[in-house]
Amino acid sequence: MRVVLTGGAGFIGSHLCDRLLADGAHVLCVDNLLTGRADNLAHISDPRFEFRRHDITTPIEVAGPVDYVLHFASAASPVDYLTHPIKTLKAGALGTWITLGLAKAKGARFLLASTSEVYGDPEVSPQPETYWGNVNPIGPRGCYDEAKRFAEAITMAYHRYHGLNTAIVRVFNTYGPRMRPDDGRVVPTLLTQAMRGEPLTVYGDGSQTRSFCYITDLIEGIVRLVRSDIHDPVNLGNPEEITVLEFARRVTAITGSRSEIVFRPLPQDDPARRRPDITRAKALLGWEPRVPLEEGLKRTLEWFAARVGSRA
Ligand code: UDP
Repeated sequence: MRVVLTGGAGFIGSHLCDRLLADGAHVLCVDNLLTGRADNLAHISDPRFEFRRHDITTPIEVAGPVDYVLHFASAASPVDYLTHPIKTLKAGALGTWITLGLAKAKGARFLLASTSEVYGDPEVSPQPETYWGNVNPIGPRGCYDEAKRFAEAITMAYHRYHGLNTAIVRVFNTYGPRMRPDDGRVVPTLLTQAMRGEPLTVYGDGSQTRSFCYITDLIEGIVRLVRSDIHDPVNLGNPEEITVLEFARRVTAITGSRSEIVFRPLPQDDPARRRPDITRAKALLGWEPRVPLEEGLKRTLEWFAARVGSRA
């Protein structure tokens, strides 16, 4: 089995590399290292693994047979995609078009890493795959949301028009080791603040909700979807919903930090709630998350503690 994985040096991508190699696959990992890090792959010394530094918004040539093309390349944290809005749009648009072309040329199954952001600021909760979303196309998050919505549309067009074997995973908030401490997302930000004894920054009044899935659970779901013959989008995420303020309190408890919680302005178009309906993943993949938030946060904290300086 040979896999081409774009974004393989990123948080999710690097965990996927590990899992695919453990399952016996040959992996060609493609990444331009815009938001991914070579460090995430430094532990891999496997003759079945190849890394190519390449920007997937430009054409790529791959020699030999390919069984799966998995497109994970994109900035994914709000801070990252606000810093790189045009690169984000290109990764979702041109990057998806180019990787679909590669899958078509090789007769490979294609999997698109999409996102819960296609639901925008949802009026329906929990969000089932049948919900079309509530997205502001011209707002600051539009560069990511619309890139992924276009990516889903072109994936379905290749499936319907060319008969390409495609899959779409809608990834909800996921956390774990290898997130960049400075990526701006709530999990690495609050964990590092707590470890350093700095105030925990809660945006808005903290009443907005998220549902956090531990990385190993997500990877298991992705692998099941890759191996399936499902074409319709599938949500993967943890349905346990929590407010951001409550999340900050849990971080303080787990780290034993004496950091205070401070409130900062809510970013524009920040979704008020987000919770996956995982009925489809349960029924079609026999998948559901196993790692509770406490446990996942402890594992993540251990990893960050070994790398992030502490002033607490
Ligand atoms: N957030 C926060 N403090 C931070 C970073 C994020 O309160 O330092 C909030 C953010 O406003 C959002 C939630 O945490 O409501 C999750 O944000 P994140 O950037 O992790 O991802 P999102 O789910 O918005 O894509």
